[in-house]
Amino acid sequence: MKIFQMPDSLANKIAAGEVVERPSSVVKELVENSIDAGSSWIKVEVAEAGLELIKITDNGEGMTEEDCVQAFSRHATSKIRNETDLFHVKTLGFRGEALASIAAVSRLSVKTSTGVEAGTMIEMEGGKTVNKTKSDARQGTEITVESLFYNTPARLKYMKTLHTELGHITDVINRMAMSNPDIRFELLHNDKQLFKSNGRGDLLQIIAQVYGMSVAKKMVPVEHESLDFSISGYVAKPEVTRASRNYISTIVNGRYIRSVPLTKAIAGGYHTLLPIGRNPLVVLNIEMDPILVDVNVHPSKLEVRFSKEKELFDAIETMIKEAFRKQSLIPESNAPKISQQQSLQNTFDFDYDERIKEAAPFPTPNMEITTKETTSPFGVSGQDDSYSSEPSESRSELQEEMTGQLERPTLTQSDQDQTPTVTHPIRESSQRIPTLYPIGQHHGTYILAQNEHGLYIIDQHAAQERIKYEFFKEKIGEVENEVQELLLPLSFEFSKQESLLIEQHQKEFQKVGLFFEPFGPQSYIIRSHPQWFPKGFEEEVIQEMVEQVIMEEKISIHKLREEAAILMSCKRSIKANHYLNNEDMFRLLEDLRKSTDPFTCPHGRPIIIHFSEYEMEKMFKRVM
Ligand code: ADP
Ligand code: MG
Repeated sequence: MKIFQMPDSLANKIAAGEVVERPSSVVKELVENSIDAGSSWIKVEVAEAGLELIKITDNGEGMTEEDCVQAFSRHATSKIRNETDLFHVKTLGFRGEALASIAAVSRLSVKTSTGVEAGTMIEMEGGKTVNKTKSDARQGTEITVESLFYNTPARLKYMKTLHTELGHITDVINRMAMSNPDIRFELLHNDKQLFKSNGRGDLLQIIAQVYGMSVAKKMVPVEHESLDFSISGYVAKPEVTRASRNYISTIVNGRYIRSVPLTKAIAGGYHTLLPIGRNPLVVLNIEMDPILVDVNVHPSKLEVRFSKEKELFDAIETMIKEAFRKQSLIPESNAPKISQQQSLQNTFDFDYDERIKEAAPFPTPNMEITTKETTSPFGVSGQDDSYSSEPSESRSELQEEMTGQLERPTLTQSDQDQTPTVTHPIRESSQRIPTLYPIGQHHGTYILAQNEHGLYIIDQHAAQERIKYEFFKEKIGEVENEVQELLLPLSFEFSKQESLLIEQHQKEFQKVGLFFEPFGPQSYIIRSHPQWFPKGFEEEVIQEMVEQVIMEEKISIHKLREEAAILMSCKRSIKANHYLNNEDMFRLLEDLRKSTDPFTCPHGRPIIIHFSEYEMEKMFKRVM
């Protein structure tokens, strides 16, 4: 006999809490037991997202009849005996609670054998044994949980849709497989296979199964070996980003855990390589002496405490930085290669801008330098509600910041601007700045421009972000009748969980013009997409939509417009230190002028600073 009931003194030292919250928690606890039993093969079958049936079969060490009976009493475990053991936990379980708790809220049957003699079969209802017989001698354990929560209707009420619950189950199995590449996992839902790993120890192969081949191809291996830690895994190149942190899997001694500071250390490894608000896709297996990690801090054992956390976080950060230093990080692009000479002068992506103009609501800028608009007064709009999504706070902060700036220069935006150059707001179309003529570029970053009203300094990156942001914001979500049929369908690969969500939200996707056609287990094809999709960005926009569904369970056109617009405007905008020729500058300024809000970039930073003729004259004491 190896399973013993803990004395109360020990049981009381264990972080207690509800372990059986939903079907996926049952799956997690039972699979953990199978892993602890040394299984090399674990099969998980569920029906109706686990609410009807959860059946876990393993080829682990099994239990004797005596142990099997004992296993279902509270605080019964073979994994720890005393308090000292609590500091050296090498197994996933140690609380001796799971089997008792699961049995209490379901109809459960267990068949188990150590392979030496006939096995044992016990049937229970709501935790009470209703039948006990002998069973076959196959080594291993098979636990069947039926009618989960049948006797706790309050719990049942908390269940989300079957898709959501199934999503949690796939998530558990995905992480278990990534934490244990040596174990062969199988997951079936309503007899349909959802996941299978081969147990050959190849983590990258499992990553490919979970997240898709295209992601796996962009993973960089990492490794760190020191006295205290042995770390290995894969980190995605910075071009693969996700809005959610859920794609960062950290595994400590075979246990999937969540840790905010650990995630921060990983993000630190990426440093400035990731856009703000985006997260990487990472799988890290961290091995250390169990004495260095306290697993007894969270009821579902999801959180841990490290003794040498600074050392660990530093090691991770450095490891990731090093890995990228060795890698070429230039993202693969579909854009045709351009000659070096071209690339020197054409850092501004013309093709892309042509596309924008074709679809843009405003006319192509007049490239002639003589234009009637020179006579138009310098209109400054009073109120601008067209960009209501921007927090009003940032607007006033900005104004404050600007008034506190240099004494003389004023931001053209200020509606309180009392400088003589500002006549009352007369709007010609939506243009709020008269034509600007470029003079030159300062340090490849700022455009200096002039007109009869004075001198302007424009941040070229911020300007382009604004132009693109408005373009995308306008276009995203306009789907009716505006569908682009594709000659060659686009194919996409998603993770299991993503695929489930896509199935569930087909209607929402269709409303925004996306028709996912199943094409293999985790793959879909798209034969058409909304017209506004910028070429070369289809995958990102679709990924963005899928992520939004994952996080919010619905697509909000408004939010999507906002986020996708910011993402895309930022992505392809000309950066600082890019040289533009006169024509490039003129076109950029024209587009800026025609934007609804030419004064701040989507992140709220100023785009344009104006020195009026009058101010210049005053500064040079030409007028008093
Ligand atoms: P814990 O895992 O914290 O010990 P559980 O209630 O999950 O508590 O399990 C109780 C005991 O039952 C375990 O300690 C283990 O000895 C035994 N056990 C559970 N599942 C299996 C299994 N699949 N194979 C072999 N033994 C098992
Ligand atoms: Mg357990």
